[in-house]
Amino acid sequence: MEYISTRGGAPALDFEGATLAGLASDGGLYVPREWPRFSSSEIAAMAGLPYAELAARIMAPFVGESLAYERLLELTTQAYGRFAHKAVTPLRQLDEQQWLLELFHGPTLAFKDVALQLLGLLFEEFLARSDRNLTIVGATSGDTGSAAIDAVAGREKVDIFMLHPRGRVSDVQRRQMTTVLAPNVHNIAIEGSFDDAQAMVKRMFNDRAMTDRFAIGAVNSINWARLMAQVVYYFAAGLQLGAPHRAVAFAVPTGNFGDVFAGYVAARMGLPVARLIVATNVNDILHRALSSGDYSQGTVTPTAAPSMDIQVSSNFERLLFDLGGRDGKAMAEQMAGFEATRTMQLTNAQREGAAALFQSARADAGEMAQAIRWAWEMCGELIDPHTACGLFAARAAGIAAGTPVVTLATAHPAKFPEAVERATGHRPSLPARVGDLFDREEKCVDLPGEYEAIAAFVAEHASPKP
Ligand SMILES: *Cc1c(COP(=O)(O)O)cnc(C)c1O
Repeated sequence: MEYISTRGGAPALDFEGATLAGLASDGGLYVPREWPRFSSSEIAAMAGLPYAELAARIMAPFVGESLAYERLLELTTQAYGRFAHKAVTPLRQLDEQQWLLELFHGPTLAFKDVALQLLGLLFEEFLARSDRNLTIVGATSGDTGSAAIDAVAGREKVDIFMLHPRGRVSDVQRRQMTTVLAPNVHNIAIEGSFDDAQAMVKRMFNDRAMTDRFAIGAVNSINWARLMAQVVYYFAAGLQLGAPHRAVAFAVPTGNFGDVFAGYVAARMGLPVARLIVATNVNDILHRALSSGDYSQGTVTPTAAPSMDIQVSSNFERLLFDLGGRDGKAMAEQMAGFEATRTMQLTNAQREGAAALFQSARADAGEMAQAIRWAWEMCGELIDPHTACGLFAARAAGIAAGTPVVTLATAHPAKFPEAVERATGHRPSLPARVGDLFDREEKCVDLPGEYEAIAAFVAEHASPKP
């Protein structure tokens, strides 16, 4: 499989190249040249497979020649063997129509583990083939950071620099990052928002002074391999609920548009998907874009669902590219316009293409709390505030009876205990596997939200290219 940039100005790469590159050199995002497609009978034949095997089957066409199937299966078996639930992403029924897909059974309690546990192994595998090393630079609104750090801590040939907005991640989220003391892990708390951090990371990918000296890699969902790994659980849920014979709707708590884009990919690959419901909190750029075609950056309001406190959704570009006829030149112009004015109108083709599969909803603080309470009082389930946005949207979506609606439960409730306790009176406890998180020493540097300061810190601590 070949990967091309959404902006048409970077060389095509194979899977190994796209995984190590992260962002394309023209500022675009890598997407597969075409979508692999499974027939109905091929999908039916996947029912009942163990998760690691399902994962290898779904990913094999994307990985192409970069890994032999047997090796891919070894890696998925190793990655998903670290999950605390044998089903990896178990489904739980809430009422006749509503379901939760629990994606938080990995080491750091959020869905980011599903992709990053595998990505860490892919980096190691590909780097071992040559004398290269990798300098990972990432921005996190909370959960990517800990999942990425867990996945690469102590690995040879990889350094990781993780930026988070100071004071805007939860205590559990911060400690899951800063208590990892491995020498290849560098936590940086910056003054500013997640969007500021993400903008600086993107700038570093395009800064020749840095990219000439360091092989800079990405763990954010701009890295295609992450989205690929997330396609798998849409199939897993669909198969359990009757695919390929019955379509399923998915409600997805959304920030950077990575997770829900994986659902779009699953649909393009042949999984019958009734609707994709994009759930945002009050940081609702995607809700506005999908409901009125107006993609305009607002200012970020901190909420109880910090991993969705985002006003620029990087992966939306992948959808717009695909819906707009895969015209890299037009996409580059559209994005240049957005970068200059912070506002952009979707074309008719993009609007109509999106409306065919997507709908959206926005949950405010009261609606999030209400959804948490409903899940607890009516179903006996504690859910986290991100999942609550999804469940609110799922219940408001007006999906026909008979079509199951699956809300992606993106984080464990114990990651956000205050919000859950406020809504229900019950404080979720941390699972034993995270251990003595609150007793461990922390390691983190504070830097101003200025690109030069971040670049200087990375340059001082990273290993240059050999
Ligand atoms: C990252 C994250 C999201 C948003 O996912 P995207 O792929 O960025 O849209 C939602 N919920 C939780 C708990 C997250 O960690």
